[in-house]
Amino acid sequence: MNPYVFEPGVRPSAAVEGSHARFPLARVFCLGRNYPWSDSDSTPRSEPLFFMKPASSVIEAGDALAFPPLTEAFCHEIELVVAMGKEGAHLTVDSALDHVWGYAAGLDLTRRDLQLVAKAAGQPWECAKAFDGSAPITPIVPVSVCGHPQAGAIWLKVNGVERQRSDLQRQTWSVAEVISLISRYVTLQAGDLIMTGTPAGVDTLAPGDLIDAGIDGIGRIAVRVGPMPSSHPFNLEVGESHHAQ
Ligand code: MN
Repeated sequence: MNPYVFEPGVRPSAAVEGSHARFPLARVFCLGRNYPWSDSDSTPRSEPLFFMKPASSVIEAGDALAFPPLTEAFCHEIELVVAMGKEGAHLTVDSALDHVWGYAAGLDLTRRDLQLVAKAAGQPWECAKAFDGSAPITPIVPVSVCGHPQAGAIWLKVNGVERQRSDLQRQTWSVAEVISLISRYVTLQAGDLIMTGTPAGVDTLAPGDLIDAGIDGIGRIAVRVGPMPSSHPFNLEVGESHHAQ
C-alpha cells in the first residue's frame, strides 16, 4: 500500500560536470562573508555566521534568472560551493576534506532589503535568503577531476563591469575549517552543499542585467536577470483571514 498521503516526488538534485549522473541534494548551509572586505581589512576572525537554504532553492545556472517577488534590492553573491559526499559529525580540520565529493560555483542570491529589516529586528533570514531559485549553481566538479582547490580567482561581472573579485586563498575560513565548524553543530550528510561566503562587491541586480561569474578551474555562470514580477498586495490592517470567528 502506498504509505504517502500524496506522491513524495523526486528528491532535488544537481548536475555533475562531464556526466549524466545527478548529485542528490540534502541541505544547503551558507556562511556569511568569508573574504577581507577591503585591502586594509585586518579584522580578527571570529566564529562565522551560518544560515540555510532549502535544497529546493538550488537550480541549475542556466541562461535565465527569475527576479524574485517582494524585493527592490535583489543582490548577487558569488561563492565557492562545497558538495559533501559522506556523512560526518565532529570532523577535524585534518579529516574534513575526505568528506567532500566535489565543488561548484554558485550564487547566494539575496533580497538585501528584507535581510536588512531582519537584521535590524534581530529576526531570522529565511525571507531574505531562502526563496525559490535563490541558489543557482554550476554543475558539480568531482574532486577526482579538480582536487581540493586552495587557490583560484573568484569573480563576478554585471553587464561586463567587474563587481566582485578575489581569490580562494584569501578565504577567512578554509573549506576544511568551515566543514569542521558546521559538523560541530549538525551531522553533515552526503548531499549537503555548503556555500562558503562571498568576497566584497555585493550589489543589486536590475531586470535585464547580464551576470557573468565564476571560479577559475571550477565553473562559470552566465545568466540574464528576468523581469520584475508583480506582487499580490496584502493588507495587514484589513487582513485576508479565512478563519471563522
Ligand atoms: Mn553569501
